[in-house]
Amino acid sequence: MSENLNPFAIAQAQLDEAAAVLQLDPDMHAFLRQPMREFHFTIPVRMDDGHVQTFRGFRVQYNDARGPAKGGIRFHPDETIDTVRALAAWMTWKTAVADVPLGGGKGGVICNPRQMSSGELERLSRGYMRVLARYVGLTRDVPAPDVHTNPQIMAWMLDEYEVLHGQHEPGVITGKPLQLGGSAGRTPATALGGLFTIREAAKLQGMDLNDATCAIQGYGNVGSFAHSLGTEQFGLKVVAVSDEFGGIYNKNGLDPKVVSKHLRRSGRVEGCPDTEPISNEDLLELDVDILIPAAIENQLTGKNADKVKALIIAELANGPTTPEADKIFNEKGTTIIPDFLCNAGGVTVSYFEMVQNAYQYYWDEALVHERLDQKMTMAFHAVWKLAEVRNVDTRVAAYLVAVNRVAEAVRLRGWV
Ligand code: NAD
Repeated sequence: MSENLNPFAIAQAQLDEAAAVLQLDPDMHAFLRQPMREFHFTIPVRMDDGHVQTFRGFRVQYNDARGPAKGGIRFHPDETIDTVRALAAWMTWKTAVADVPLGGGKGGVICNPRQMSSGELERLSRGYMRVLARYVGLTRDVPAPDVHTNPQIMAWMLDEYEVLHGQHEPGVITGKPLQLGGSAGRTPATALGGLFTIREAAKLQGMDLNDATCAIQGYGNVGSFAHSLGTEQFGLKVVAVSDEFGGIYNKNGLDPKVVSKHLRRSGRVEGCPDTEPISNEDLLELDVDILIPAAIENQLTGKNADKVKALIIAELANGPTTPEADKIFNEKGTTIIPDFLCNAGGVTVSYFEMVQNAYQYYWDEALVHERLDQKMTMAFHAVWKLAEVRNVDTRVAAYLVAVNRVAEAVRLRGWV
């Protein structure tokens, strides 16, 4: 039988496993398996050639028992409501495991931003916020950037929201440009947060990160910062990186500055000087100490997991590993830093951004990253400790920490 790769089915299966270990009350389990609210809508956009194109948009507020829903907005041609549901569920567990006072949400638009002009993207972004302006907000739901959305798109959405409400409310959206109330240190935060968890995992294994070898799949915001910060601040030797077009390899390590310069010029990492080409499939199976999936879902499956040689898999992407692959990694003893722990750095600094917006008082990058380190290190050890105490794998342990916290808030509110 082939694997079910529907991300929401996977997110539910992961919750089911944790619920069984926790002996979660069946009524609570049923409640936590579903999003609390969903918005499905159309966004009419006047395109540059004069015709109006109708786009399909989604926002899922999965659970807001611990605080306003929080989660990014993706612009992607293959966006589906089940992907958004899964990502909103993972945001719920992520904010809980990072212990920030927020819930989980996610949004998306089916569109191909690579084929849209800047003006078309602005009208789409403003249209998205126009539809949702009544349902999001500082105390309800706080969006952020995700795949193919960026600080400029957040700025257009913020402006649309503030024009509609007639007042400044910078905390309504995070990942904003610095000039509009963004936080110092937000852009590299997801990658840096993941690197802090890799540092802790390596310590426990007695692995010296100086010159540990590493392969990174995906070279967008997260993957490229994992490369540059991993090399410069943690001493990693990154031997392979890739993007959707293919990968590059050099056994002596890749210089992040050279790769970024080549990417800026040619739009892809392939063809970078002093490198050999490598496929995305082969990159995942390289003999390296650390593998960092930083692209999309379902990359490590029942088909390739037994060929993966990395000792630590740090899931900076959301949902890169299927339950079938998880079983194989557990049998092999591979250390998994599960996605909603590993990539919680972004939402943690988004929370810092909301705090700074509320006080209108801004921190410097060093302070942001010091506080990020504290939060990530605490979250990592809470998960690792529970994995040991309950004798479960680290993904289940991350779920135990998160589900316990969310279920407690739901119970205290008297919802279930
Ligand atoms: P991005 O759009 O900046 O970059 C995505 C990268 O993945 C690009 O290099 C793209 O070419 C590559 N890619 C796409 N399809 C691929 C494929 N089939 N094979 C190999 N590479 C492929 O996105 P990002 O912000 O870097 O996010 C990457 C992952 O990290 C996503 O799973 C996202 O949900 C997750 N994440 C991002 C943040 C954040 O703060 N940006 C926070 C938490 C989680």
